[in-house]
Amino acid sequence: MAKSHDTLLSLIIGINKWQGNYGNIPDELYKGMLLFIEQTVASSAQPPVDLFHLLQILHRPSREWGIPDLQEYYPEDAPLLEEFIGLTPDADEFLNRYISPQDAEQQYMYEILKYCREEGRQLEEEYTRIRTFLSNSHNAVVTSFQLSEFSETFPDLHLTNLIKQCYEEITHAVANYRRCPHCGWTLEYKNDRWRCNKEDICHQLADFECLSLFDFGKERVMRLLPGIQRFVLLPGMSELRMVEHLVRKGYEVELYPNVDEYDLSVSQDGKKVFLDIKDFRDPRTLANFFNHQTPSYLEKYMNQCLIVIPQYRSQLFASYCERSMAQLNETAREFIEIIMENEIESALKKVFL
Ligand SMILES: [Zn+2]
Repeated sequence: MAKSHDTLLSLIIGINKWQGNYGNIPDELYKGMLLFIEQTVASSAQPPVDLFHLLQILHRPSREWGIPDLQEYYPEDAPLLEEFIGLTPDADEFLNRYISPQDAEQQYMYEILKYCREEGRQLEEEYTRIRTFLSNSHNAVVTSFQLSEFSETFPDLHLTNLIKQCYEEITHAVANYRRCPHCGWTLEYKNDRWRCNKEDICHQLADFECLSLFDFGKERVMRLLPGIQRFVLLPGMSELRMVEHLVRKGYEVELYPNVDEYDLSVSQDGKKVFLDIKDFRDPRTLANFFNHQTPSYLEKYMNQCLIVIPQYRSQLFASYCERSMAQLNETAREFIEIIMENEIESALKKVFL
C-alpha cells in the first residue's frame, strides 16, 4: 500500500483509540504524524509542528494537507475530523474498508459471516435470517427480551451470542433519544439538531418534524452498534426494498446467495444475474475501491454481476453513477458495470433478453 494510505490508517486508528482514552496518546497517532510530516516536505503546505497543530489541519479538507496521491484513498473535500463529531463519516468508511474486521465494530457481523461459511457448515439460511433481521428498521432498537427471543431461535449458542454482540445496552440513556423516522435507530440532539449517527443521511430521507420517544416501559433496551447501523442496517434497508420491488415484478430473488458471495441473485427463465449493493459516500471512493482490486478479484463481476448504488446516494451527490464510472481505471472498467437502484429493471431486461 502507498504511504498516503498508511498515513491515513495510522491517524484514524490513533484518533479512534485516543477518543476512547484522552489521557493516553496512542503510538499510532505519533506514527501518523511523523508520516504526515515526511510527506508534506515536498509540498508547499506547512507541515504540522505538534499534535495540536496536526489536529487543526485534519479539520480541513484533505486536499489542503499537502500529501501527494491522497485522493486515491480519501475524498479530497472531506476533512478527517469534525467539530462535535470527532472522526468524520468518511474516516469511518475508510476504516471499514481497510482495517481488519476484528478491529471494527462490524466485527461481529464478519464473525457471523465467517462462521456460517466455514467448511462443512454452510449455514446459508441462518445467515440470511440474521442479516435480514439486522437490516430491518424495526429491529434497530429492541428490548433485551425481543433480542433474546430472536437470537435464541438458533440452536447454535455461538451464533446466539454473536447476534447479541451486534447490540449495546442503552436502557439508562433511552430518554435522551428519539426514534429515527427513517431507520428506526436512535437520534441524538447535538449541535442544535437531532442527528442519526454520524453521517445522518436519514435527515435527508425522512421528515424530522415530529419525532417520537421510545416507549419500552421498564424493560432493558438495546440498540445496534453504530457501526452496524451504518454498514449493515442502512444498505440492508435498500437491499430489502429492492427485493420487495423485484419480487413484485415477477422475478425470482434470493438474498445473500452462497452465504453472501453476492448481495442478491435475480433469476428469470433459467437465467441468473447477481447484484451487489455498494454504499459509499463519494463516487470516487467507490471507483478507487475497484481500481485497487486485482483482476482475479474483479473477475467475479464480469458479465454476471451488476454493481447497484442505493438511490439516496444520487440525492446526496449529483450524477453519482456517471462520476464513479468515469473514475474507474481501464482494468476495472472491463469488469465492472455500475447502475443506480432505479435502473435495475431496465438493466435486467437487457440481460434477460
Ligand atoms: Zn436513521
